[in-house]
Amino acid sequence: MKSSNFKDIITFFLIFNLIFLIGCNSKHSENKLKEDELIQQSDTTLKEQESSVHIEKQDNKLIGSAFLLNTYCEIIIYNKNDENLIYNTFELCRNYENQLSCKILSSEISQLNSRTINQVSDSTIELLQEALAFSALSDGALDITIGAVTDLWDFTSDSKIVPLSENIQKALETVNYQNIYLNDNQVIFSNAETKIDLGAIAKGYIADQMKVYLVEQGVKSAIINLGGNVLCVGTKEDNVGFTIGIQKPFEEGYVAGVHLNNFYQSVVTSGIYERFFEKDGNFYHHILDPKTGMPINNNLASVTIISKESTTGDALSTACFVLGLDKGMELIDNLDNVHAIFLDQDGNIYLSEKLSEELQIDTL
Ligand code: ADP
Ligand code: MG
Repeated sequence: MKSSNFKDIITFFLIFNLIFLIGCNSKHSENKLKEDELIQQSDTTLKEQESSVHIEKQDNKLIGSAFLLNTYCEIIIYNKNDENLIYNTFELCRNYENQLSCKILSSEISQLNSRTINQVSDSTIELLQEALAFSALSDGALDITIGAVTDLWDFTSDSKIVPLSENIQKALETVNYQNIYLNDNQVIFSNAETKIDLGAIAKGYIADQMKVYLVEQGVKSAIINLGGNVLCVGTKEDNVGFTIGIQKPFEEGYVAGVHLNNFYQSVVTSGIYERFFEKDGNFYHHILDPKTGMPINNNLASVTIISKESTTGDALSTACFVLGLDKGMELIDNLDNVHAIFLDQDGNIYLSEKLSEELQIDTL
């Protein structure tokens, strides 16, 4: 493995400081990584309620940040001193959020869910198609018709309400991705109560669209970071790929750094430490089992997917989390151009079969 050449340091502050020991048992890792040299996945737990865009200039880069998609988002553009590009790219993000979020009443998805409309825009259809394909690929582990169940839970406020079991059972009857059919731009529901939630995949799709826009505008080198979904444009100046830090669950710091290249540009993590609450000694997090309507409980702490596109990474990180270590890893090992890092709650790290053949990964 060639030695790493790190230059860019981006620091996000973590607000959780629980001790959760991680021992790296990776068979594949050889290089030691310096923690302060990583491009770090941003902390989705930041609760800054600010919608305005901040821009800062540092050497050859512009750093834009904003609170969107209910998380801390960042765009870094290298070698192009154009602040409008940052504003416009965040505007694009905001428009997609307003179109796709089931939490925003006027969105296309909310209007589909209330059966106010049945025709949606091309981009919503495109994402629904992809989401249904991943729902099928994961045999319903990812199921975008989980909306009636996710409506019962709230992992963002301090309410800490565990839904009544009878309400969960009722909502579960509406969950089945096969309840939706797409016909051109029309969305047809075979169950009157079924609701769509694209929360497991929309951030990835939006990141991909932001990248398309930046590339169209002539950007050759950039990082889009939507609260844990990191998508790169190109490489750094010297043609060295960006290195992304894989976060330790519940703790400040990183277990590994993945060296991206011109093909692998996306790193997405789904974890139990992102959104959760504790009540009566029980731990509840936001990745739900579509069969029980309860947070999935399989000893995983996080799943990271490395891929070309962020939509793929977002869908598969959630799907693999629900599938668990064995079935999730099997799914990844049977796919081309996708790699995974699973972390369990005992501090073990598992890499997918072909990861270290195709990418360089260093552990800390
Ligand atoms: P994050 O929101 O941190 O990016 P994920 O991509 O894993 O995390 O998505 C989790 C979100 O997806 C939840 O907040 C919920 O809206 C939705 N969701 C939870 N469980 C499932 C599931 N099994 N299938 C589809 N969507 C889910
Ligand atoms: Mg996801």
